[in-house]
Amino acid sequence: MKRFDEAAKILNLDDSVYNTLKYPARIVTVHLPVMMDNGKIQVFEGHRVQHSTTLGPSKGGIRYSMDVSLDEVKALAAWMTWKTAVVGIPYGGGKGGIKCDPKSMSKGELERLTRAYASAMSDIFGPDKDIPAPDMNTGQQEMAWIVDEFSKIKGAYTPAVITGKPISMGGSLGRVEATGRGVMVCTRSALSKMGLKPEACTCVVQGFGNVGSISAKLIEQLGVKIVGISDVTGGYYNPEGIKVAEAMAYSKANGNLGGFPGGKNISNSELLELECDILVPAAMEDQITDANAANIKAKLIVEGANGPTSANADKILNDKGIIVVPDILANAGGVTVSYFEWVQNRMGYFWSEEDVNSKADAVMMSAFETVYEAGTNHKVSMRTAAYIVSIDRVASTQKFRGVY
Ligand code: NAD
Repeated sequence: MKRFDEAAKILNLDDSVYNTLKYPARIVTVHLPVMMDNGKIQVFEGHRVQHSTTLGPSKGGIRYSMDVSLDEVKALAAWMTWKTAVVGIPYGGGKGGIKCDPKSMSKGELERLTRAYASAMSDIFGPDKDIPAPDMNTGQQEMAWIVDEFSKIKGAYTPAVITGKPISMGGSLGRVEATGRGVMVCTRSALSKMGLKPEACTCVVQGFGNVGSISAKLIEQLGVKIVGISDVTGGYYNPEGIKVAEAMAYSKANGNLGGFPGGKNISNSELLELECDILVPAAMEDQITDANAANIKAKLIVEGANGPTSANADKILNDKGIIVVPDILANAGGVTVSYFEWVQNRMGYFWSEEDVNSKADAVMMSAFETVYEAGTNHKVSMRTAAYIVSIDRVASTQKFRGVY
C-alpha cells in the first residue's frame, strides 16, 4: 500500500478510483470437507480473491501452505493486478490459497482436496472470468486436476481455465524458463541504459531455484561474469567466475548447492553485500531491508523474487543511486508466458519455443522501456514508475468502463 499510495499521489488519482482499487472486487472463502486416508473427514479452508477484473479476467496463482490467510491472499491478488498491468497483458489480478500442509498429505489426499476446491470454485473460475496458475507448493499436477474437474463439471474440455499445465494438456513451451528469461531481458535493457557492457560486469544471484538458476544461466550467456550464487545452504563466491552449468548440474545431482566446490562458502547476508555490478535477489521476500541496504555495492538490482526489498530500503537504495528493476516488472516474464499459454489454448494452435521466447522478450523489452520512460518523466525510481504505469492503465480503463 505504501508504494501504491506514493504512485497514486503522483498520478493525482481521484478518491473514487483510489478507493475502488484499494479493495478487492470479490472474495470467496470455501470450506472443503475431504476424506483423508485414515477414513476421517477433515475440513480445509480455501480462498480466491479477485482484486480487479478491469483489464480482463483475474489472473494469479493458488498456493498451498499452513501460512495461507485471507489477508495474505488479498495482498497477493492486488500485486497481480499491478504485475499484469505493467506488462500490458489483458488480465486483472487474483490469487487463491488453501490452508493445508501439503508435505504431510498423500497424493490421493491432495488430489481430493484440489478437486474439491476446483468444484467449489467452478462458478468463480473460467477462461473469461478468473484464470489460476501454480504458486507456492502447487505445480502442473494440481493444475491438471483442476482442468479435469472443471471440464467434467462444465461438460466441455476447458484447458484455458488454468495455466501452468503439463505440455500434453496444453501447457506452453518456454514457461519453465520464462521468469528467468524476463529477468535477463530486464538486466540487458538496464545495462544498456546505464552504458555498461555486459562483458565488463559481474553479477551475484541469490536463490538457485527456478528463477535464480535460469536467471544466472541466461545472464552469464550475455557475457556477464557470475561471481556469487546461493541457495538455502548458503552463498558461494568466486571472483574468477562461477560456471553456472556446473552449479546447476551439482544442484540437480545433490538436491541443493551444499558443498559446491566452485566457490568459497559465505553466508547469504555476506552474499548480498558482495562487490559486484548486478544483484539478482531470486529467493524470497524481505532480503534487502534497512538493516543491509546501505552496504549493498551493486549498481543495479533486478528483483527476480517477489518483494525482496522492503519499503524502508527503497529510499536508501535510491539515495545511493542504485537502479532497482522492481519485481512487478522484472519477474513478469512468467505471467506473460502464462498469458501466451491461454492464447494458444484458445486458438487450439501451439507455437514453437523460439516463437514463445521472442514474443515474451518483445513484451518485456517494451514494458521495460515504458517504465524507464515514466521514471525519467516523473523523476522517480523505476519502482514508483512501474506502479504509475500500471495504476494509470487500470484507472483510465476503469473510467471508460464506468461505475454504477
Ligand atoms: P524455488 O523454490 O524454485 O527456489 C527458491 C530458491 O531459494 C531455492 O534455491 C532455495 O534454496 C533458495 N532459498 C530459500 N531460502 C533461502 C535463503 N534464506 N537464502 C537464500 N536462498 C534461499 O522458487 P522460485 O520459483 O525460483 O521462486 C523464487 C522467487 O521468485 C519467489 O519469491 C517467487 O515468488 C518468485 N517468482 C517466481 C516465479 C516463477 O515463475 N517461478 C514467477 C514470479 C516470481
